Amino acid sequence: MIVKYVKLPLYFLLGITLFFLVFQPQTNAQSEFVSVQANVLNVRSGPGTSHEIVDKVKEGTILSVVEKFDRWYHVQLTNGRTGWVAKQYVDSLPDIPPSPITQPYIAFASASKLQDLYGISLATLQDKTIVIDAGHGGRDKGAVGTSGTYEKDLTLITSKLLQKRLSTLGAHVVMTRTNDQYISLEQRVALANKKKADAFISIHYNSSKDDKLHGIITYYDRHQSLAESIHKELISLTTFDNKEVRHGDYHVLRENSQPSVLLELGFLSNAHEETQMQTGQFQYNVVTAIVKGLARYFDEQNT
Ligand SMILES: [Zn+2]
Repeated sequence: MIVKYVKLPLYFLLGITLFFLVFQPQTNAQSEFVSVQANVLNVRSGPGTSHEIVDKVKEGTILSVVEKFDRWYHVQLTNGRTGWVAKQYVDSLPDIPPSPITQPYIAFASASKLQDLYGISLATLQDKTIVIDAGHGGRDKGAVGTSGTYEKDLTLITSKLLQKRLSTLGAHVVMTRTNDQYISLEQRVALANKKKADAFISIHYNSSKDDKLHGIITYYDRHQSLAESIHKELISLTTFDNKEVRHGDYHVLRENSQPSVLLELGFLSNAHEETQMQTGQFQYNVVTAIVKGLARYFDEQNT
């Protein structure tokens, strides 16, 4: 959503600081993700069964590893807390470290490894043309988060992660922008039409005057089934609330001759969601959800 803010220098500095705290420039350190293999796994306050249980996580939950000690992993939970889990009950996932925009570094598993991880056929993604539209850019900052995060920066990060993953899976990916530049809505749509995109995915982060408002909304104009397919996975793979699939009168959907959706992946105006959406874990889950949703949609088109 487009919200005009007058930014104070302090907020700007805080925003930049937060940005680099979360999106640390990649040196040798890479984020590592693991997936929970036990039905229910205890999260403890320290590395050992003598430590108290502070939380429980379900099978399939993706955790970001903070540190390793002996046979225990110190992990980040989706509620922002950390705790320890036994190494034997988790499996490694390919890395998708969040990256600074200027220096994207993304290490991916091979397509065959991804196939195993997703648990569904991703073959339908092969040779599909997907236009990824990172919302806003340049002089259009989009929404500004409670701690100063620009929507245009987050949309680009998500878009680049998605681009990398879809490319690995054999899709032909076209980006409406790959850096911080202003692109008109007309140009975005023209690209989708010109490329005869099999799907056009517009990435956005929401904002509201009500700072309690939270959750994910997926908008469509004519292609409800594409929206339903992606939205279902987004709700299942993230901890964000289901704000439903809705019809949206947006230029990039209305004027688009290709199957198109617009994703509002949480509220930057909600402090909790603003923090969450900047974690590698959230970005990983969102990218995974969009890929799965697309694969299922194309699968259904074939039958
Ligand atoms: Zn937006």
